[in-house]
Amino acid sequence: MIRDFAKNVVQLSAETATGQPLATTRKDKSSWLIEACGEEIIVSCQIYAWNLSVRSAHLDNSHAYFNGSSVFLQVAGQENQACSIELLPPQGQGFNDWQLATSLHGQHINEKGFGLYQADNYDDLIDHPVEMGQFSRAAFEAGGIPHEIVISGRHDADMPRLCRDLSRICEQHIRLFGELPAIERYVFLITAVGDGYGGLEHRASTSLLCSRDDLPRQGEDGINDNYRSFLGLCSHEYFHTWNIKRIKPTVFSPYDLVRESYTRQLWAFEGITSYYDDLALLRSGLISLDSYLELLGQTATRVWRGQGRFMQSVADSSFDAWTKFYKQDENAPNAIVSYYAKGALLALALDMLLRQHSDNRISLDDLMRLLWREYGKPGKGLKEGEIESLAAGLVEHDLSDFFQRYLYGREDLPLNELLSVIAVEFRLRPAEGADDKGGKAAANKNETSRPAWFGARFSKDPAGAKISHVFSHSPAMQAGLSAGDLLIAVDELKMDKQKLEKMLLRYQAGTRLRLHAFRRDELMRFEVTLAAAPKDTGYFVPIDAATVEQKIIRDNWKSASADS
Ligand SMILES: [Zn+2]
Repeated sequence: MIRDFAKNVVQLSAETATGQPLATTRKDKSSWLIEACGEEIIVSCQIYAWNLSVRSAHLDNSHAYFNGSSVFLQVAGQENQACSIELLPPQGQGFNDWQLATSLHGQHINEKGFGLYQADNYDDLIDHPVEMGQFSRAAFEAGGIPHEIVISGRHDADMPRLCRDLSRICEQHIRLFGELPAIERYVFLITAVGDGYGGLEHRASTSLLCSRDDLPRQGEDGINDNYRSFLGLCSHEYFHTWNIKRIKPTVFSPYDLVRESYTRQLWAFEGITSYYDDLALLRSGLISLDSYLELLGQTATRVWRGQGRFMQSVADSSFDAWTKFYKQDENAPNAIVSYYAKGALLALALDMLLRQHSDNRISLDDLMRLLWREYGKPGKGLKEGEIESLAAGLVEHDLSDFFQRYLYGREDLPLNELLSVIAVEFRLRPAEGADDKGGKAAANKNETSRPAWFGARFSKDPAGAKISHVFSHSPAMQAGLSAGDLLIAVDELKMDKQKLEKMLLRYQAGTRLRLHAFRRDELMRFEVTLAAAPKDTGYFVPIDAATVEQKIIRDNWKSASADS
């Protein structure tokens, strides 16, 4: 997505080294022309920084966080020159305890991290986010390289525990690729908030936003669902250190910061990364096979819940990411498929396919090592379609039918057929209510009692149940309901989100409901006939009666990572 960070430039001026003002002219939404003068130029600018996300900049009297892309101007024509940056703490008593953390190369810095930093070029300059303030700090080593965890925001996290768990994940990824890319050190920059989630990868660091409840507290052990998803996020961004920061499409080298760069390859960069993020938790022994299969089932559920998977291929989802995936509206589930979620399943399917065609001698791990050795490490970009040919080359087998159907086409992946390699079965069942994320067998073992289906998602509203999404081919859509409609009564009784979701669990397919709803400020009547809930909720089950061969491949898949 083009983020238009220049919108936050409040004021910009230029002068010569001797203080002569120079005229500045706007050229377009993100460029300025400065009057020529034949001497050194000093440009000053003031930037509004009030966006606490991993991609932007935020400054208040408790901390400062920024990505270079939000605050550093690029000098046209001098992108490849080395840059020096002096980072200073704010003046005043209240700021004496501030420290600075970043993966930028420090040249002359004090014990608190303030001072002179250096970057090889503009691309390097904007790829190391910076955090300043009072934060928690802990360190560990992985692959012989220092790694640092920095957490800002109020929290009560068990720092030694985080070091232990993250080092296992890092070592796991390093074993997979055989080595870390050439970096001095790696920094996990974490901002803990009340409620939030997000991550962004960089060449030697990652910025993460999480809820403080996702972090393990002192004295707590075990891995609950929140902490498991935080570890998955860390794992995801760390895997990107190879896969997208170095192994990347030719069209991203160099990045065009002004206009869209189109690629159909994001299934490989986000999908494969999404496959390995949770798999690394299993392989490093942090979670069990059942726990991993639950996460995988939730991913499959996200894919199977959207009819958009029949409207858009994963390749097109990647190509149109600029306007569709990153600018989702209420119709997204009906119109698009995620190259993260379906891409992860595609990666799993490819892993199984490679094993199938090679008597388990070749797996997706080998493809990743090949991509690192021949493309990522030497800095060679990948042309469109090249990863598919490399995969086929590894097993000396034509895989074009597979990619044609599931990457460029819109067919559902034949997970059962492919997962038989490791004796795991994929099953689908109806959802058991609005909070059912899938990943587990039905809690209600009575398979014949099939819940009724309304076909919409609701958000809370003080006045009723607000419809956020209406699904294609659903009773809600057939009745003429739309996203934004505010349901206030069902069968003449006042209704809210909680009541309605509870009520729907008790109804049978075929039940007719009379609804009153506001569309804008107009009261409307609708009649909905509930249908039988579709089987859109997936889960995976290991088959106990696996053959010896299947068990060997399963063991190899869930533990393998060293060079095979
Ligand atoms: Zn990612």
